[in-house]
Amino acid sequence: MAYIETFWMACDSTEQLRAEYGPFHGRAEAETEAARLGFGYLLRYEHVLSDNEEIQEVRCVFIELHLTPAPIAAVRRLHTRCATCGVSSVHDEPWRAEVWADIHEFEHSRHRVRLFEQTQSQMREIGNWRDSVA
Ligand SMILES: [Zn+2]
Repeated sequence: MAYIETFWMACDSTEQLRAEYGPFHGRAEAETEAARLGFGYLLRYEHVLSDNEEIQEVRCVFIELHLTPAPIAAVRRLHTRCATCGVSSVHDEPWRAEVWADIHEFEHSRHRVRLFEQTQSQMREIGNWRDSVA
């Protein structure tokens, strides 16, 4: 009497050279992980086991997920860069950028720190930022 053991992997394609992540015992769990990784497929492995738990057959079935595009993460990073000496830093919070600039401009008189905002793949400069907060 054979029985079947099933487990799930998240994978990024159905190609031979694919990235797989897992295993998971449940499909829901695998789907959650696939979504997190941006993987578009699940792979269901079925091991057909004999009485003494020897694998007699391995079946695998790809299941394509219809991922809704991940919500655009509101990732905004602030880059400060000194126009005078070129030292730069990255910040998550505007106030950290300001503190960084304050310290830098305090330690190096006449240096001028510029601020850039990076969202997704775009980088734009925020002009006159030091004047507006003063
Ligand atoms: Zn500087």
